Amino acid sequence: MLLLLAGVTCGSPPAEEGVRVAPFVDHHVHVFNVGWYLLMSERKPAGYVAAGGATSEADVVARAAAAAKAAKAASGGWVTGFGWSQDAWGTPALPTSDALSAAVRDVPVAMARSDGHALWVNRAALARAGLTVGARGVLLERAAEPVLALVPAPADSDIVAAWRLGAEALAERGVLRAYDAGVLALPGIAALNTDFARYVRLLAEADRARPLPMQLCMMIPAPSPYAEQVLAMSAAERQLSPNVRITHLKLFADGALGSRGAALSHPYADDPHTSGVLRMRAPEIAAWTRRALDAGLDVATHAIGDQAVHEVLDAYEAVLRARPDVAPTRLRIEHFSYATDSDFWRAVRLGVALSVQSNFNTPRGVTPTFAEKRVGAAGAGRVYAWDRLARMGAVMVEGSDYFGEPGAPLLGLYSGIVGVNAIGERGDSPEVRSELLRRNSAWLAPGGLLQAPAGAGDAAAGFVVLSADPLLVSVESLLTIRVRPSVRPRQ
Ligand SMILES: [Zn+2]
Repeated sequence: MLLLLAGVTCGSPPAEEGVRVAPFVDHHVHVFNVGWYLLMSERKPAGYVAAGGATSEADVVARAAAAAKAAKAASGGWVTGFGWSQDAWGTPALPTSDALSAAVRDVPVAMARSDGHALWVNRAALARAGLTVGARGVLLERAAEPVLALVPAPADSDIVAAWRLGAEALAERGVLRAYDAGVLALPGIAALNTDFARYVRLLAEADRARPLPMQLCMMIPAPSPYAEQVLAMSAAERQLSPNVRITHLKLFADGALGSRGAALSHPYADDPHTSGVLRMRAPEIAAWTRRALDAGLDVATHAIGDQAVHEVLDAYEAVLRARPDVAPTRLRIEHFSYATDSDFWRAVRLGVALSVQSNFNTPRGVTPTFAEKRVGAAGAGRVYAWDRLARMGAVMVEGSDYFGEPGAPLLGLYSGIVGVNAIGERGDSPEVRSELLRRNSAWLAPGGLLQAPAGAGDAAAGFVVLSADPLLVSVESLLTIRVRPSVRPRQ
């Protein structure tokens, strides 16, 4: 047993009691959408397509056609779905609307890709939104918003049920604090025309009625009407309920690599016709960042492609130069998936917080890697290169980015070890594991203070008890470690 590493303390308790570690902190997760996924899995409602396991485009189309028959009588006449990925059926190109529109003519269909940044629709859905048929039938980024606005909104009781299911699922995995990276519009897309105020109000009401099993720091997507309201609130008003507090504005600089919406400085290796979708440039990011800081809020900006990362760093650098009093970790970059060499160094020099996801990394031995497919062999070593960033001295925190099915409690640690670039050439060792665990447990407190994980016995932070020692078991066994009932943190 290595004392003090990753918050593992107390020596070796009797085996049946398990191993106490600091509670996990998920720095980027979509709690409502995790809960919605679980709710849909439980209820299997008419008109909903669970497309996660689909093995071909035809498979998803067939499921949508079956759901459409049922949807005519229920679900407000829409078919919605979540979880498809053309990578899962081995096709580089995104699907088109042709086969889907031929199979489902009179019921609108809207299905979110597994990355939450692409919406596959049929012609009926496009027509209802007043859109002409796109060349591909998959709407990327904000182009999906006119369709999403028409998808029937859930009932209050279902929203509350989803929040609670999501929070409970995470708490069962040892996560007692989380940063909620924003509600994704149903069926699961990052969209700015969502009624964030309603979702957040229902969450806070639920927490007041019966405490949630974890603390939630909310990021509110901007620009949006609710972001404007939040900017005008006092710090006290942003503590919405005992366990729910608004801490960040969330900005989006680009989309995701999976649907080729991540903004690259060059064409995609597997589709030379596009270099992605840049949603915000540096001046706009800087303006929102200044507004947030002036109002006492921190900022988290989604940036995956190297062009998007560059824009965010330009913005953050300008703001920090003019405001040397601001703790740089109040400014976060969500994902930081791909960057140029000079921007790796710039992120380290500025000291902004990089919120990374080890479970995005392709496992060793799988070729070509996802990174090689999308950005090409030359840049693949700079995709998800968390080990390199750690060795350079970057401030990094770890999140799952779950918005569908949550994985095993220690999936993040496991993925860090088996991922191609996550620990580079260092190989597995207790030291590497403890460093990864620390990244999964460190608390980036509101105000930008990075705090080491609290140890066992710290009543304010609580602890969790694992069924085995994550520093000692085999890599594969990490996925079988379970969390035993844990102490809830006090606010
Ligand atoms: Zn996310």
